[in-house]
Amino acid sequence: MHQKPDGDAMGSALGLFHFLKGLNHDVTVISPTNWADFLCWMPGTQEVINFEMNKEKSLKILNDAAVIFCLDFNIFHRTKHLATHLANAIAVKVLIDHHQQPDEPSFNYGISDTKKSSTCEMIYDFIIGSGNDKSINTTIATCLYTGVMTDTGSFRFPSTTASVHRMIARLKETGFEHDQVHNHIYDNFLENRLRFIGFALLNRMEVLYEYNTALMYITKQDLYKYDIKTGDTEGLVNYLLTIQGIKFGAIVIDRDEERKWSFRSKGSFDVNQFARNHFEGGGHANASGGRSSSSIEQTVNHFKEIIIKYKNQLQ
Ligand code: 5GP
Ligand code: MN
Repeated sequence: MHQKPDGDAMGSALGLFHFLKGLNHDVTVISPTNWADFLCWMPGTQEVINFEMNKEKSLKILNDAAVIFCLDFNIFHRTKHLATHLANAIAVKVLIDHHQQPDEPSFNYGISDTKKSSTCEMIYDFIIGSGNDKSINTTIATCLYTGVMTDTGSFRFPSTTASVHRMIARLKETGFEHDQVHNHIYDNFLENRLRFIGFALLNRMEVLYEYNTALMYITKQDLYKYDIKTGDTEGLVNYLLTIQGIKFGAIVIDRDEERKWSFRSKGSFDVNQFARNHFEGGGHANASGGRSSSSIEQTVNHFKEIIIKYKNQLQ
């Protein structure tokens, strides 16, 4: 899975993990980095190895592996410091992912489909396609539901096709409790996070009506003051798109090693291309991310200069 895994990365990895274990394979899930607290309830997370905390063990597993499934990313650098080790591993590498422009030569086999709602949906297809429909139990259903739910904005994005709903119906037949998944992911934060969101909306948001764009920046001091941890800023960018007429939302967070961007759009404005062109990033047409090594002020100013060129596209 990619670094700082989200619900879909963790859900697809754990869904596949439980499925393959059920078929008596020897399976290990490795995350390149730590992950958000709101994912820790997922069945199997206690067995996931954080590469940054367990380098030796991870490398042994990686080098001994016969097959490596690369889930919810399509280019090795999305796994941060794991990237070179992944490239050097001799195992057969299988890509299952729904992001744009996969780095095909890095993988031996793969399914890359940008029309898919989530990697979890693709793991579901993989299980069904392998003729193992009956092995889908509540544990697998819970993992897969989590990723589809988070990647479709709770089943609202255009990627939520009829087959997504059919899949959810099939998962529900296992008897898993979908309301519990929503509670774990969306209603399980500490007070400080909500106070922080209030602060950010009031003091760190700028609306550029001329470009139908809303911009937010979060400084290191803000993160420190509100004790913001991995995962606490997830979803913040979506507030920007709730303003009438806004087609493009961008948030930049001053992380230790870099300034990390999240981009979201509604309609035809392609934020995957925007992130690739200007911020060394990528993702999907309506949701992408990127980075910058300059200061938070510089990167915000740079954004405001670039956006001028997109005026026509955003109107
Ligand atoms: P988020 O804003 O939630 O971190 O990411 C939105 C989408 O863009 C996710 O599907 C994520 O995998 C992808 N993404 C985020 N950051 C990057 C990046 O730096 N490079 C690429 N290629 N994709 C990214
Ligand atoms: Mn995904």
